[in-house]
Amino acid sequence: MPSQPSFTTPDAPVAPAQPPRHVLDPASGLAAWLGQRSQPEWRARAIRRWLHGRRAAAFADMTDLPRGLRADLEADFRVWTTSVAVHQRADDGTEKLLLELADGQRIECVLLRDGDRRTVCISSQVGCAMGCVFCASGIDGVVRNLTTGEIIEQLLRLAALLPPDERLSHIVVMGMGEPLANLDRLLPALAEAQDPEGLGISQRRITISTVGLPPGIDRLAAANPGYHLAVSLHAANDELRTRLVPVNKAIGLADVMAAADRYWEISGRRLTFEYVLLGGINDSENHADALVRLIGGRAALVNVIPYNAVAGMPWKEPTQPARERFLDVLRAAGVNVQVRRRKGARIDAACGQLRRAAADTMPIVSPHEASA
Ligand code: SAH
Repeated sequence: MPSQPSFTTPDAPVAPAQPPRHVLDPASGLAAWLGQRSQPEWRARAIRRWLHGRRAAAFADMTDLPRGLRADLEADFRVWTTSVAVHQRADDGTEKLLLELADGQRIECVLLRDGDRRTVCISSQVGCAMGCVFCASGIDGVVRNLTTGEIIEQLLRLAALLPPDERLSHIVVMGMGEPLANLDRLLPALAEAQDPEGLGISQRRITISTVGLPPGIDRLAAANPGYHLAVSLHAANDELRTRLVPVNKAIGLADVMAAADRYWEISGRRLTFEYVLLGGINDSENHADALVRLIGGRAALVNVIPYNAVAGMPWKEPTQPARERFLDVLRAAGVNVQVRRRKGARIDAACGQLRRAAADTMPIVSPHEASA
């Protein structure tokens, strides 16, 4: 049974009790550990450079660190706390990893290649508590929050799939989970991604997608308004939205839109609103009209995502004519619209499907090759 959707108790447990210490997770205390050994602070930066810039796979590879220090690091920290359970690659260059965590839980992350862009889609939680009825990630509720180290490790694993002369350019937090329900672990991981000694990805190339939790949106605005915020709407009236996104019952569209507006005012960044088109459910011209009214004069982008069917779920993909009519209404009203293209055998929006071992047609690359 899915756990009760809730936005007032967003703090899912962070297990296991004594997780392996990822060397780049601030909670692992590398700085203090180095201090105890009278090692200079810049060693932490050197380790970061080795992992991100030079893609070292082990402490043993960090040849400019003293040998003894390398052995001590090896004993107390991990470069990898996850293993690659499945690695899939599609013809268009999209690659998807199913990572197994130290406690046996599994999460997904994806590398998308589009022109010069190298975008990664990362997860923030194991499962999800929001209960969106059409989404595979939330079927079993939320299991736990990811640690900062587990979020960083997704970036490291995906970067390792690129040839040496390519870098990750964009991050979208659109994998499994509700990122604003795990902000305390997510923000340090995204700070790591921005570090010039790390991946050096600027905030404006990082998108956080939320189901629309106003307290979380306000916290994000207060902490760091430079991120690109995407708010999942999926319906333009409360009755339908509550049916599709049960957490809406306790929030309501007016509060979601107000919080989004506050974020926009503080950040100055154009907002994105996501709208998953479900065949026969929210894809009529009336639904499009209602969405036009809801967006009103906002200078926002509406990202229309044709549903990716999930095995065992009753929801259908929109028909081509329904999709065109829906988009025509938005465009005719002057709304900025983007249709999410399908990439990688339809894996991009289908969060949680690989984890559930649903039918997925991407050829599997051996886990060995993926982790090399
Ligand atoms: N919890 C965040 C991130 C979810 S994943 C949020 O709600 O925004 C990013 C987007 O993909 C969300 O808009 C989500 O509703 C959508 N999505 C989930 N499952 C999908 C599916 N099977 N097909 C298409 N979009 C899906």
